[in-house]
Amino acid sequence: MDHDHDDHLHHEHDSHYSDMQARVRALETLLTRKGLIDPAAVDRIIDTYETKVGPRNGAAVVARAWIDPTYAEWLARDATHAIVSLGFGERHGTRMRAIFNTPEVHNLVVCTLCSCYPWAVLGLPPVWYKSPAYRSRAVIDPRSVLAEFGVDLPAEKKIRVWDSTAELRYLVIPERPAGTEGLSEEALAALVSRDAMIGTAIVRLPEQIR
Ligand code: FE
Repeated sequence: MDHDHDDHLHHEHDSHYSDMQARVRALETLLTRKGLIDPAAVDRIIDTYETKVGPRNGAAVVARAWIDPTYAEWLARDATHAIVSLGFGERHGTRMRAIFNTPEVHNLVVCTLCSCYPWAVLGLPPVWYKSPAYRSRAVIDPRSVLAEFGVDLPAEKKIRVWDSTAELRYLVIPERPAGTEGLSEEALAALVSRDAMIGTAIVRLPEQIR
């Protein structure tokens, strides 16, 4: 566990975030009342960015790392620049670190103080990532939290928990599933879910290509 949060920065980041949320909600209410937007459509757009558009960037990074050992080595050594090379840039000053799952170690990402998240590669954070329950329990009892996400790890597998900060954010590189040797880079990327890159899922081959 390394947590080098700067408290001052974090309070700014938190209050800015909740202020922004309040303004967004007020605007949404106003536009809905005037009949200008359909809240269900807004929910669908947000869902698209949470689960489809944003995480596709991270999935492209994972797929490249799976097929290109030189890229994987660069990603392990200097994730910030290896990720920018694929066209996905974090906001100024944020560093990225890629953490690789192995047969021995499973990695899980959390932000215990607020909701630091690698926007450039994963898009919008899911609601549960920001919840106090996940933020506290991921650190205290990661194995049970993973079980609730449907990830039952063998007892001998170690779980390493990484605490994100405003300055340093993590991308989990899941293990490449067996049986994917013949798949293209695009097909591999399609297997990688957002949750697998946070560490709350593992990548599996769907039944139809198994
Ligand atoms: Fe944070």
